[in-house]
Amino acid sequence: MKQYLFKIFNDKEYGFNHEKFEFRIPSLRVSLISRCNERCFYCHNEGISKKMPSVIQTGDIINTIYLLREFGLKKVKFTGGEPLLFKDLKNLLYKIKHIADVKLFITTNGTLIKKRIKDLSPNIINKVSVSLDTLEPDVYKYITGENLLGEVITGLNMLKRNGYNVEINNLLLKGLNTSKKCLNNMIDYCAENGFDLQFIEMSDKTSKPFYSKYYADPYKILQKGGLHFKKDKSNDRQFFKIKRSQITLCKNVSDVCESSRERCGGLRLLPNGVLKNFLY
Ligand code: SF4
Repeated sequence: MKQYLFKIFNDKEYGFNHEKFEFRIPSLRVSLISRCNERCFYCHNEGISKKMPSVIQTGDIINTIYLLREFGLKKVKFTGGEPLLFKDLKNLLYKIKHIADVKLFITTNGTLIKKRIKDLSPNIINKVSVSLDTLEPDVYKYITGENLLGEVITGLNMLKRNGYNVEINNLLLKGLNTSKKCLNNMIDYCAENGFDLQFIEMSDKTSKPFYSKYYADPYKILQKGGLHFKKDKSNDRQFFKIKRSQITLCKNVSDVCESSRERCGGLRLLPNGVLKNFLY
């Protein structure tokens, strides 16, 4: 394992040097499955093809986490595609809790929470991040290609009732959800329900026509909306608090990692079983 990690971290393509990182691997991001049940027009699927074979099994993930404990693994995040499509989720979560003391996070589109909540547990999962760009059904359907806003809201209510720590990820899309009214509706919804909220800048990995049409400069948009953030020195992000909710401004992932390169040092496990540097 150590030799394999040396290979990854010495790869010139990523510009990493294992000595500098002292082989600390604090985080692992696992794309459990490449498929998704939605079709967001901006989806870059975290850089993996939706046709990538999804062959990793619970045992592979458990073995990886078990081995990475030696390198200081503290945090595991499940993504997809849509991670709630991974059938063996309940067993996977249960086993992780028994082999490692790590914080567990899930990022989901929220449409399958109602079906899968029996397989989850707030005692095991530290935070559920739900992608939700709008509270308007027509706009939701336009963005995701599916008429599933009601399912997401039902799922969020269930998470709240069951005591989960919830965060909403709201991608800023010019002309679709960046009016003062839309921003404030989302803030009010999160504040009323005690959910944290992240306003996210669109990634430049999004296909070019969509990027040109919908990219919104987050600072300009949020300032126009009368929202004033202060800087969190620990992670380069900006935030403010309203009731119990923290509202954060998140620049796109490449910027965040660029400025956090020294502490990033995470790995990604892909649905085809390949282990990659986080910046892949
Ligand atoms: S929910 Fe996420 S993974 Fe699914 S299509 Fe939308 S952006 Fe892509």
